[in-house]
Amino acid sequence: MLNNSVQNTENQAGLFDPKAYIRTVPDWPKPGVQFRDITTLLSDARVFRQLIDAFVHRYFDYKIDAVVGIDARGFILGAPLAYQLNTAFVPVRKQGKLPFDTLEEAYELEYGQAVLQIHADALKPGQRVLVIDDLIATGGTLVAACSLVQRLGAEVVECTAIVDLPDLGGSQTLRRAGYTVRALCEFEGD
Ligand code: AMP
Repeated sequence: MLNNSVQNTENQAGLFDPKAYIRTVPDWPKPGVQFRDITTLLSDARVFRQLIDAFVHRYFDYKIDAVVGIDARGFILGAPLAYQLNTAFVPVRKQGKLPFDTLEEAYELEYGQAVLQIHADALKPGQRVLVIDDLIATGGTLVAACSLVQRLGAEVVECTAIVDLPDLGGSQTLRRAGYTVRALCEFEGD
């Protein structure tokens, strides 16, 4: 068991709570960062199933057409979720990984910029899309991914993640930009 002595995977409301299974690695990849490592969630078969089921139960009646997963940890969540929801899966990838025509969005990192891309034919206008990543920090990654979805004429129904770090303001930024946001758990601080 990680982080505390809770012996089950439910919170007081009886809902799946992934928090106890997320490993915090201090000062990685650099001093001051508390890295929230989800590999410890994925490596327990029962917990991994409960994690995906938690997303499935949330979204099974949302009439989603496509799940958009963000490179790379969003793929781990988005592909099984799309399979269970019986939807398409669309990858949003870091620059230079997609072979066909792409649209791209630059976004700010702490030092410099990064670029996300989507295939130009990946979504059709009007499709209802769920965008998923593992964690929301400043929100820059999800804002860029949502912009790509909208530029293809599709509708972002919701942004979701396992973890929100509310003190970094990302979920608030997304809500201010007009998106609905939902994470399974929160960690204080950064
Ligand atoms: P942001 O664009 O600032 O919201 O950052 C979110 C992206 O960076 C996600 O793809 C996360 O996987 C990664 N990330 C940022 N901060 C952390 C953290 N403290 N622990 C784990 N992953 C993080």
